[in-house]
Amino acid sequence: MFRWLSGLGAPQRKVEQELALITDEVWHRAIMGHFFLVGLNPDEDLALKQRTAWLLASKQFSSVQGLELTHDIMLSVAIQAALPIMQLSPRLYEGWTEIILYPSGFLIPRAEVDESGVVHEYMMEASGEAWDGGPLILSWEDAEPGVVSRANVVIHEFAHKLDLYGSDADGMPSLGAHPDISVREWQHVLQASFDEFSASLVAAEDAIPSYVDPESAEAEPWLASLPLDPYAATDHAEFFAVSTEAFFVDPARLAQGLPQWYALLARYYRQDPYRRMTVSSV
Ligand SMILES: [Zn+2]
Repeated sequence: MFRWLSGLGAPQRKVEQELALITDEVWHRAIMGHFFLVGLNPDEDLALKQRTAWLLASKQFSSVQGLELTHDIMLSVAIQAALPIMQLSPRLYEGWTEIILYPSGFLIPRAEVDESGVVHEYMMEASGEAWDGGPLILSWEDAEPGVVSRANVVIHEFAHKLDLYGSDADGMPSLGAHPDISVREWQHVLQASFDEFSASLVAAEDAIPSYVDPESAEAEPWLASLPLDPYAATDHAEFFAVSTEAFFVDPARLAQGLPQWYALLARYYRQDPYRRMTVSSV
């Protein structure tokens, strides 16, 4: 069984050992603990479980700063990471092995050059980071599922891994297994959607009164109608990662606000979370 997994970074025996640890009760609890997983049909449920076990068998999980790494934590990270590739090949997550968990946000060094050419070095707090060919780093406090949220740091960082597979971080994942999607179509829809979103973000920010700090939580009412978090306007790579988060955990606004982009993502991921979540909530 699960022959298709053999040769994909983990021995079949290890994958089957991980599958055996995920009893029906453990699996049911894990599904119910992640609101965006409700509504999967039996085929999707099985595909997700197989990829979850493959992730647990093929990736090396570790924790730092005293976080106790339990099976529940690893299962949660793996099940969230497995969702984007539920209908795709796990091969897209190959080329690296380490997943490092921090108990909460961690500091990463950053450097910026200002207009006069002076380099400013500083530490920035992050909830996740994906290295090209290297580890994927997560803050468990930010990755832990619970309340319904627009954000999902696990899916965000794994989307960067999909983007980086076989190419640069440019907002375009490998389309090798998608003869129905051309590079040209992807680039066109990505650019058009990015431009449309960037323009709507500028319009929303312009409407914020001067007495409200646009970076503060008080500015939220002016930004809430946007289909994506403002961070998506950073560049094409972040646009793809933030869009993938929204696609899986908050699809309604994305499907309505950027329908062409949503439809392309649905063809790429071979899933329609908007329909799935709408049907399951009726
Ligand atoms: Zn990112």
